Amino acid sequence: MLEKGKRYHKRKREEAMLMIANFRGGMRCHYELTPYLPTFEEPCEGKLEIDHINGGGTKDFKEKTAYHVYREIRLGERNLDELRLLCAKHNQWFQHVTVKDYRELDELRKTVKR
Ligand SMILES: [Zn+2]
Repeated sequence: MLEKGKRYHKRKREEAMLMIANFRGGMRCHYELTPYLPTFEEPCEGKLEIDHINGGGTKDFKEKTAYHVYREIRLGERNLDELRLLCAKHNQWFQHVTVKDYRELDELRKTVKR
């Protein structure tokens, strides 16, 4: 029974990921969608995961449960603009850095005289 449940969950997760991949134009890591990212040369590593571009993913999954998040994605009740796929390595990489942090960094960079 447990095995069956796990498989079902995995399939639902994969369906949600396929929707995001279709929207983004490929089943791959979309680290380049991080705004204000200057250069990024770290190669991808690990399995693909669903990422909330503007942060809040952990809270979202915790409050709604992963099942409901996947369900919302599949039913089109989610703004796919807020989501992307990231490899495990880049997902971890961006976990503690938000768009706001990158924007601030970008502004700081502009103040440096060349
Ligand atoms: Zn990656």
